[in-house]
Amino acid sequence: MTVYDLAIVGGGMFGCLAGDEAARRHPDWNMLLLDRSGPAAGATGWSLAADIPFALTPAHRDLIEECERQWRRLAGEPAASLARGIRIVYVTGQDRLPALQAQLGERKLREASPAEMDTVRRMLPDVRIGAHELVVTHDEPGSVLPSREFVRELLRAGPMKASTRLATPHHVTAVRGGEPWYELACESGDLWRARRVILATGPWRLPHLPATPAPFTRSVVKRVAALRVALPVRAGDPIVFFPEDDLYVLPSTDGTAMVSFNRRCWGQDPDLLDGSLEEADRRSGVAVLAARCTAAAGRVVGGQAFCDRYTDDRLPYVWRAPRLAAMLAGSGSGVRLAPGMAARAVSAL
Ligand SMILES: Cc1cc2nc3c(=O)[nH]c(=O)nc-3n(C[C@H](O)[C@H](O)[C@H](O)COP(=O)(O)OP(=O)(O)OC[C@H]3O[C@@H](n4cnc5c(N)ncnc54)[C@H](O)[C@@H]3O)c2cc1C
Repeated sequence: MTVYDLAIVGGGMFGCLAGDEAARRHPDWNMLLLDRSGPAAGATGWSLAADIPFALTPAHRDLIEECERQWRRLAGEPAASLARGIRIVYVTGQDRLPALQAQLGERKLREASPAEMDTVRRMLPDVRIGAHELVVTHDEPGSVLPSREFVRELLRAGPMKASTRLATPHHVTAVRGGEPWYELACESGDLWRARRVILATGPWRLPHLPATPAPFTRSVVKRVAALRVALPVRAGDPIVFFPEDDLYVLPSTDGTAMVSFNRRCWGQDPDLLDGSLEEADRRSGVAVLAARCTAAAGRVVGGQAFCDRYTDDRLPYVWRAPRLAAMLAGSGSGVRLAPGMAARAVSAL
């Protein structure tokens, strides 16, 4: 039986970027990527995949800086050309400005120009901006990535192409042993062997392991939803972000924007979700949006919902055992934080 140098379980953003990083660092490795469905079958396939580079904590800032280094490296790969830059405009309380500036690190906030204000008012015609609020921006753009296509392109044309066997559908139920190799057992009865393992199972539970990472047992699976809203937006318009409301409006096509909001619904089972928006998602999103923009809340034309694993402070983490790393809890930001997580996971092996 083949003993792979590295087996990756999970073909989402985390698993595929870890594979990309491993293949780049170790072009001689014979690698295996297992997924219970197929690449981007989980949260990655339903993501809005916006990169608004704010850091909730100093640990997030370190991870974001690592991501920026990784994005510079990825710039040479065809998959990276799928990302598009987008400006970000923030609507925030005056008293919150220093905290927001600190969260944005080197990006220096300035007041939005009259032209930028006109754009916001065109996009969201009856937007409510309080007397003690400011509209600010920075000159460095954020980005949006079609994450499903990105993952597929990494597999099709990235460094993994030459060295990685993609095996789907294979649902890994247990990872056993360790010396001299790990054995990965699948629901189907199939067995695979690998000297090293990366687990990247997103919101799903981990396969059975000799030891379960303690932080994993404290994480929760939360619903993540977004509304599609018919709005007078155009190509080139910015993301309008209301940090205090945990709400942003992301222009997607001419005349349509995606609206991300905090869907407070915990304890989801990813196996029961198919990406579609439920009535309760719609009601919850409309309530948050209506507080800012009544007209927009009346123009919801659809949406999408799935789930993601969250830690308390929304910081994803890498858990390690000898030659095994688990990349866990995208926490609603797993697309933008995946490159740094991938580098950490491969270094942990
Ligand atoms: C509506 C929505 C909007 C979002 N917006 C943003 C955003 O704007 N910006 C951002 O950065 N993030 C966003 N996110 C979060 C982001 O999409 C996730 O954090 C990220 O995709 C997680 O990637 P992952 O690889 O950890 O998980 P997943 O993409 O879920 O991948 C896990 C993979 O593992 C496979 N798998 C699971 N268990 C097993 C097993 N036992 N054996 C084999 N295979 C297994 C699954 O089939 C799946 O393909 C959003 C998410 C949603 C749902």
